[in-house]
Amino acid sequence: MLQTPDRLDPEVVIFDFDGVIIDSVPTKNGGFAILYGIDDAETEERMRQTIWRNGGLSRFKMLAILEREMFGRDPGPAEIDDLARRYAEIVDPRVPDCALIAGAETVLDRLDGTPCHLVSGTPHEVLMGTVRAKGLERHFRSITGSPNVKAEVFARIVAAGGHDPARSLAIGDSLTELEAARKAGMAFVGVVSEGLPNPFPPDVTVVGDLHGLAQRL
Ligand SMILES: [Mg+2]
Repeated sequence: MLQTPDRLDPEVVIFDFDGVIIDSVPTKNGGFAILYGIDDAETEERMRQTIWRNGGLSRFKMLAILEREMFGRDPGPAEIDDLARRYAEIVDPRVPDCALIAGAETVLDRLDGTPCHLVSGTPHEVLMGTVRAKGLERHFRSITGSPNVKAEVFARIVAAGGHDPARSLAIGDSLTELEAARKAGMAFVGVVSEGLPNPFPPDVTVVGDLHGLAQRL
């Protein structure tokens, strides 16, 4: 692999959005606690752990996991859709007000000339609205939200560009992106914000924000 943790010279970069480009993880996770009306610290902590273990999934998949692991329920698709609609009402209007992750614009400017793609578990139209509100659209060759599956999108982007997977870099804040990158044979750097637990195995390079990534480009 040509990538080293100290120096990255990628042909193509795939970014996750929440927790990587935009500091929206507390807002999005807090939305689940509001949705379920959770106000005791112990249940909130259990929910936070469950969300953290399953980071990077779509809200539909996350809601099914929370229903099962937190409440022992197995709702059908119509109930999940209803929960997702209520979750959207709570969270989606708030996300465009979230700040960018430190260094995001520096990294995107520095990568001008290198194809950058955005791949997120957020519903596609919601994602597009936030990206446009933040004025970030011009930085990305493609923008893909759910219901697309990250592993498939990563592999498709690398193949479509004729890129060497080993010189293709994915940046994410959860295991979903690490697994997608590994499946596609890509290099990976994790973003772990200060104060948050590191979900990645010890061999994964992590940075605290995108200034940390900019230093390696
Ligand atoms: Mg994320």
